[in-house]
Amino acid sequence: MTLDYDSLLIALAVSAGCLAATLFGSWFGRRTETFLLSCAFALLLIVGGIVVSGLYIDRPERWIGVVAYVLFHSAFAMGWGAGYQFRTGRFPALATAAWAIVAMLLSVPPMITGYDGAAFIAENSMIAAALFAIAYQYWLARDEAPAPLTAIALLYSVTAVSFVLCAAVLIAGGKLVLGTAPKNWAEDLSLAVCIASMTGIGALSLALQQWRIAARHRLDAITDPLTGLLNRRALFDRYGTGAIDTTTAIVVFDIDHFKAINDTYGHGVGDHVLKVFAALLEANCRTGDIAARLGGEEFALVLREVMPGRAELVAERIRRTLEDYETRLDGSVIRCTVSAGIAVGRSIPMHFDAMLSAADKALYAAKRTGRNRIELSGYLHAVPVETVRTGS
Ligand code: GH3
Ligand code: MG
Ligand code: MG
Repeated sequence: MTLDYDSLLIALAVSAGCLAATLFGSWFGRRTETFLLSCAFALLLIVGGIVVSGLYIDRPERWIGVVAYVLFHSAFAMGWGAGYQFRTGRFPALATAAWAIVAMLLSVPPMITGYDGAAFIAENSMIAAALFAIAYQYWLARDEAPAPLTAIALLYSVTAVSFVLCAAVLIAGGKLVLGTAPKNWAEDLSLAVCIASMTGIGALSLALQQWRIAARHRLDAITDPLTGLLNRRALFDRYGTGAIDTTTAIVVFDIDHFKAINDTYGHGVGDHVLKVFAALLEANCRTGDIAARLGGEEFALVLREVMPGRAELVAERIRRTLEDYETRLDGSVIRCTVSAGIAVGRSIPMHFDAMLSAADKALYAAKRTGRNRIELSGYLHAVPVETVRTGS
C-alpha cells in the first residue's frame, strides 16, 4: 500500500487536531498549566495552515499561499512561545509576535510578487529556524526531566532538519518562480517526519505534564504553604529514622508571646511575622542546612558540618535580627522576639528524635528564664555559659 502526499497531509491535519483537543482537555483539568493551552493554539493554527496548504496545492493562487504562510508562521512562533513558557512559566507575547512578523515579512512579499519559489525557500527556512529555537527551549529545560525533554528537543531538531532539506532542494533547483506548490522527495520526507515527531512530542508532552503534577503534589505534601519552608513531616521523613552524625546541630525556635501579636494586631500580621521569620531562617542556611516549620510559631534549623560554636552564633544572629526587626502598621511599630534551644552533635551519633527533644528542653529552659534568649542542651555544660545565654 502506498500513501500519496494528499493523504499524508490529511493524516497530519487530523492528528494535529486530535492532539490539540487532548492538550486543551488536559489544560481544562488543570487551568494553571497555560503552557498546554499555548501548545493547543499552536496546533490549531497548524491544522489551519495544513488545510489552506491543501487548497493551495489544488489552486496555487497567491492569496491562498499568503494565508497559509500567516497561519504557519503564527503557529511556529506560538510553539516557540509555548516552549519558553514551559521553561519559565511566562508566555513571551512580544517576542512571539515579533518572530511571526519577521517570518511573514521574509516570505509573504515574494509570494505576493509572484516569486513563489523564493517564498517557499524563505518559508521553509523560517519554520526550520523556529523549530530549532523550540528545540533549544526544551533543551535548556532538560534538568527538570532529562530523558523526555532531551527526546522532545531531538524530535523538534529532526523536524527542523527536514524543513532545511525542503529549502535546500528548492535552492538547488534554482527556480525563483514555481507556479505550483513544491513537490519533491524532501517535501514527502518532511511530511512523514512531521507526522512521526508530532505524535512523539504530543505523547511526551502529556507524560511530562503528568510527571510535573505528581512532582508538585509531592512538593505540596512536604511544604508549609504559609512560609514555603519544609514542614514537620518532611523533616521527619528526612532524618526521622537514622542517626544524626556528630557534626550536626539542631536549633528549635519559638516566637515569644506570639498569641499576643495575633490578639492585638490580627492574624494577618501574625502570618506576616511568621513569613519574615521563615525568610530569616533561610537566609542563615548554608548548603546542606535545612530550615523547617514544626507547626504554629515553632521552627527548626538543622545545621550540617558545624564547627564548635557555629550553631550558637547562627541562633544568636537570628535572635538579634528578629529583635531589631520592626513591622509598621497604622502608625504603630510591632516588634517581637524569639527563644531558641540548641542541641549539638556528641561524640557518639544520636537519633534525630533524641536531639530534637534535647533542643526542645533547652528551648523551654530559655522560655522559663525570661524569653528572647538561647539555651544549649543540658548535656553540654562544658560550654561557657556567657557565650550561650544571651538576650535580656
Ligand atoms: P510563648 O512565648 O510561651 O511561646 O507564648 P506564645 O503566645 O508564643 O505561645 P502560644 O502557644 O500560647 O500561642 C501560639 C499562637 O500561635 C496561638 C496560635 O493561634 C498562633 N498560631 C499558630 N499557627 C498560626 C498561623 O499559621 N498564623 C498565625 N497568625 N497564628 C498562628
Ligand atoms: Mg509555641
Ligand atoms: Mg511562642
